[in-house]
Amino acid sequence: MSEVKAVLLDLGNVLVFHDNARLFTALGARAGLSGEEVGRRLSGAGWTAANRGRLDAEGIRRDVCGALGVDLPMEEFAPLWSSHFTLHDAVLPRVEGLVGRVRLGLVSNTNALHMAWLRPRLPVLQRFDAQVMSCEVGFVKPEPDIYRLALERVGCTADEAAFFDDLPEFVQAANTLGLKGRLFTTAATFDTQLRALGL
Ligand SMILES: [Mg+2]
Repeated sequence: MSEVKAVLLDLGNVLVFHDNARLFTALGARAGLSGEEVGRRLSGAGWTAANRGRLDAEGIRRDVCGALGVDLPMEEFAPLWSSHFTLHDAVLPRVEGLVGRVRLGLVSNTNALHMAWLRPRLPVLQRFDAQVMSCEVGFVKPEPDIYRLALERVGCTADEAAFFDDLPEFVQAANTLGLKGRLFTTAATFDTQLRALGL
């Protein structure tokens, strides 16, 4: 087995939990809609456009408020739009423990407002060698280009990189490119997976 030189990590449901049902319920409470209805109205094109970086913070606010039939000022919308995040406290010290031992990269499908909210709350990100956010690079997982860009930025070949994600589809895409894709489930399993990779 070749030595692992880089660990690439997903963000949502790996470093932070994101409870979309809670988000939809919170938005619905403000818009007079059920959480289910909010989920229906927000599924589709707008979310993808935000992840690809085609909508900036104001664009996201306008798009989401338009879909829900409300007009919330940014100072109310931004915290509401990120109200479904909680830090994955059990995994963060384990990631800290990798700093300096292996190159670290973040590979996330995310949008401008969520990153603005999360960055100051996840100081460990500043110690990463690369942060590949879909909204900044224009590619989204499972597109091969986002994985290739992450490899380029951490400076290693596919077989020298491990990739962790909670979505099987994104792990499969990494494996197809020759990375060591691993399905992220729990912090304890993450430990076992890292040990098996020689880390
Ligand atoms: Mg995820």
